[in-house]
Amino acid sequence: MGILRYFTPDRMERDIYCYTAKFFASRGIDRVVFDIDNTVAACDSPVPSERAKQHLLSLKESGVDIMLVSNNSEERVRIFNEGLGFFAVADAHKPSASGLKRCLEQSRNSGGSALVGDQIFTDCLAARRAGISCFLVEPVKTAENAFFRFKRFWERPFIRRYKRLLKRGKL
Ligand SMILES: [Mg+2]
Repeated sequence: MGILRYFTPDRMERDIYCYTAKFFASRGIDRVVFDIDNTVAACDSPVPSERAKQHLLSLKESGVDIMLVSNNSEERVRIFNEGLGFFAVADAHKPSASGLKRCLEQSRNSGGSALVGDQIFTDCLAARRAGISCFLVEPVKTAENAFFRFKRFWERPFIRRYKRLLKRGKL
């Protein structure tokens, strides 16, 4: 698949609730790093919804180690993580893989790993560079500024490619 692999997620679903304990278990994945903004919650939600919180905690309960990685600030991540208590890396500079690697290195689990995120050029690329699976969700809330719209526009051909491969059973 070559370089395009870096921009093609292993799976795309509507939201984080599609990624269940069963889903991860069937793939031998026991370490999952979640992006925060537009993946677990909207950028302007300071804390996770009760549903999101319960979902992440129940994954953890089932034996999946959950971590958070965000390009957002220390303060954003600290407040968001208060009621969760996961290992979290802020200012991660995705698509750099360094934040992801820090998460995985401190985990007590040692099975398969994945990143759940919402963006191809940051999350998917970071996951590939770290050598782990990438599961995308549709952005919780599409940011309205021009920069995000620009990025989404350039993601489209990669999303079409993913759907094509999926249809042909090549993923
Ligand atoms: Mg995001």
